[in-house]
Amino acid sequence: MAVQPIPEPAEAQPYDNFIRGRWAASVSGRTAESRNPADNRDLVGRFALSDGRDVDAAALAAADAEKTWSSQPVPARAAYLRKAASILETRQEGFARLITREMGKPLAESLDEMRDTVNFAYYVAEEGRRFFGKTIPSEKPGRFCYTLRSPLGVVGLITPWNFPVMLPAWKIFPALLAGNAAIFKPATETSVVAAWLVEVFEDAKLPAGVLNLVMGRGDEAGRALVEQPQIRAISFTGSAANGWSVAARCAELRKRVSLELGGKNPLIVLPDADLDLAVEGAAKSVLTASGQMCTAAGHLLIHRDILEEFTERLKNRVARMKVGPGSDPAVEVGPVINRQQLERITSLVKGAQDNGAKLLSGGEALEGPEYQAGNFISPVILTDISPEMPAAREEVFGPVALITPVDSLEQAIERANAGPYGLAAVVYTRDLASAMRAADRLRAGVIYINGPSSDAEPHLPFGGAGSSGNGFRQGGPTMLDEFSEWKTVSLDSGAAAEP
Ligand code: NAD
Repeated sequence: MAVQPIPEPAEAQPYDNFIRGRWAASVSGRTAESRNPADNRDLVGRFALSDGRDVDAAALAAADAEKTWSSQPVPARAAYLRKAASILETRQEGFARLITREMGKPLAESLDEMRDTVNFAYYVAEEGRRFFGKTIPSEKPGRFCYTLRSPLGVVGLITPWNFPVMLPAWKIFPALLAGNAAIFKPATETSVVAAWLVEVFEDAKLPAGVLNLVMGRGDEAGRALVEQPQIRAISFTGSAANGWSVAARCAELRKRVSLELGGKNPLIVLPDADLDLAVEGAAKSVLTASGQMCTAAGHLLIHRDILEEFTERLKNRVARMKVGPGSDPAVEVGPVINRQQLERITSLVKGAQDNGAKLLSGGEALEGPEYQAGNFISPVILTDISPEMPAAREEVFGPVALITPVDSLEQAIERANAGPYGLAAVVYTRDLASAMRAADRLRAGVIYINGPSSDAEPHLPFGGAGSSGNGFRQGGPTMLDEFSEWKTVSLDSGAAAEP
């Protein structure tokens, strides 16, 4: 069936919550604004601000819907997801434009995000016919033993703003395939994109209450989701500080929680590396989504033998990258999400300089009419870094490269593993033994060798080690683990008693 593209959102009309298959204002009636980070005068839309009462209504709706949804055959559930995938595919260009307008990343990156999301959505739908358990031989006569996955019930899905379609899709599609009903709480910054995404499931005729949308702030709607007694599990993607505090509360409440958190991701370049590839890969790893990527690798550990040449080439490459609104096709670096984040990045850079770091390029306020109303910062390269600097320890989440020389692969691995995080790591080398040694020894959930950390494949497992996560993986063959319970069945057929 041909699906009409969604019209551009009407600016004045607020985006509501979606509960029990209906769009409705929050109980309090409060709303907030979402604005374009490239031009703060552009109001993308108003959206509902929710509290515990909205979460309670959504939990009730989800608990009702879950009873029938969980008892449908898995391929039947998958059929709704396939329909949603095909609607997403039809609307991907409109979505990409909206992502760029509401989140700020260049249009080409938004299109990549949509392509990956559509592929992922089809992949999950296909898994509906591969919802396998195991048969396991029993040690007792006449017994038949097998395992099957059962759903958890009602699950809460909490997501950040940097990949506003892909990250919710990583949760919604597997959660529903597994037979759960879900409540989705997006980041406030990308609420309009979230409403469009939920509309896709409405248009796919998903039964009412199976997917609910509750918009609002983390310390209000998000907190209420964690506290709500009918919600059995929380799937959280966001900052480490918030994620671990949500996990601590979930432990008290005996809820399952899965965490996909931030990182401080290293990028190692060894002297035998293809330098063209490494420079290009570093530019992408540092600057995709203006560095607002959980796998952004701004912690550059460069072998001393090639330090000067690599640094010079990276500086030249970055100087050629156009900064500006993501809607301009020539732009490679868009704005950062908001003023607060802009100030945080600037102060981390200044703090590093005050403590002896050398600013090689960037960091200056950008002059020109196209920059006046946006949150722009030119990409920063810093050298002479010491490990104690907050910029060297904390996730910067901005367009900042910190270059540190290393004398060997061993030293690079030691530096890379020194912090608490363990999300992604990148290595550039032509030497197979070094590549394999690095892959073996680096503490990271995702390792890229000779490619940038901005790459993602929908069917590869994704998640972090150390304080970047708690062991679950999104995407790939283990994606259903966070949303289902393994059940072991031991069935005595009575056959052993027969003569
Ligand atoms: P954030 O932690 O501020 O917010 C993430 C989500 O959690 C939002 O929806 C927010 O409203 C909600 N939230 C905040 N406090 C909460 C609380 N106490 N209870 C319940 N919900 C709460 O993160 P952000 O600024 O939106 O996103 C950036 C962070 O996300 C970065 O640290 C980045 O590395 C991380 N991230 C991780 C991954 C991954 O897969 N590992 C992917 C993308 C982003």
